[in-house]
Amino acid sequence: MDSLDRFASEKLAALAARALRRELAVSERTPDARVRRAGRELISFSCNDYLELSTHPEIIAAAIAATTRYGVGAGGSRAVTGNHPLYAELETRLAARKGTADALVFGSGYLANSGLIPALLGKDDVLFVDELAHACIWAGAKLSSARVLAFAHNDMSALTVLLEAERPAYRRAVIATETVFSMDGDCAPLETIAALALEHDAWALTDDAHGLGVVPIPSAAQRIPLQMGTLSKAVGGYGGYVCASAPVIALLRNRARSFVYSTGLPPATVAAAIAALDFFDRNPDYCARPLANARRFTRALGLPDATSPIVPVITGSATAALTLSQKLADAGYLVTAIRPPTVPEGTARLRVTFSASHRPEDIDRLADLLRAVAPIRIAAS
Ligand SMILES: *Cc1c(COP(=O)(O)O)cnc(C)c1O
Repeated sequence: MDSLDRFASEKLAALAARALRRELAVSERTPDARVRRAGRELISFSCNDYLELSTHPEIIAAAIAATTRYGVGAGGSRAVTGNHPLYAELETRLAARKGTADALVFGSGYLANSGLIPALLGKDDVLFVDELAHACIWAGAKLSSARVLAFAHNDMSALTVLLEAERPAYRRAVIATETVFSMDGDCAPLETIAALALEHDAWALTDDAHGLGVVPIPSAAQRIPLQMGTLSKAVGGYGGYVCASAPVIALLRNRARSFVYSTGLPPATVAAAIAALDFFDRNPDYCARPLANARRFTRALGLPDATSPIVPVITGSATAALTLSQKLADAGYLVTAIRPPTVPEGTARLRVTFSASHRPEDIDRLADLLRAVAPIRIAAS
């Protein structure tokens, strides 16, 4: 075996020894939150497609119409010829929704954070970041060469202490967090973060990947100057965005490398996102269902009320998470185990996500199955 394959094999063996090796399962998703795997149909409590818009006929029709009219690809980066006519409409709608002057759509949420943070911060600057923030915020931080200082999850006194001690030593500063934490389902205290940012001359950045469309926009969001997110969760498709002031967006069009040096999204994807935002506006009751379903589940288990469609069930060890996930699969439910490094060491879990079409009887049955394997604790507690 050559050294490259030996390197790969040894790395994989080390992961396998810790129950951390991952395999991809072929998953055919169908409407009503079903996933077909290895010939079996499971009810999925693991999709981020909270409103199931990825398979909604209206959204599919919009994507097909855009493909027929504009083709399957953008044909270049948006700075060259990839800026097809649908982009302006999507960006106008995103900005309106977030209450900002402008917006910029990126290839994905990962690309948005990878481009945004280095466009704002350099080596003389500092990023204060919640320790549980998404991998792409850390990637953007690394690419920026800024000093990165993590604060304990949602701990505003820890952030205050850090800002007081460290902020003065740097030129520019950003405070980054998530509106809804992707693996824990809890929400950031945006009011306090906005106030601390103002007090310490820092710019607040929120990642709303799991909020858009399914969690009511908190009023404090208006005081957050950098609001990014993704079109791949409740929006149902693909792409990322940053909503901000006109000068900030103009700067990103010029300096965000993941924007400048990457091809525009396919027209179908942009059209699907526009149709999805339109759907949100016309169907508020339907959009409230994932959170209501999550609450039905947390009530059934005697947990604190869910604040988002994401409810973690912490097992601690990766092996326990895998075993529990398998047990639920045997009963017909797909609840994927989430293991390190996606979550901190010792906090492996099942991440239960709720969608609009889950039936009450399935939610109750899942809760019953989990109660049978108690004790359960949630991440934030
Ligand atoms: C999914 C996710 C992203 C990445 O978005 P993609 O569009 O899938 O690249 C970013 N941040 C958070 C919090 C996420 O959950």
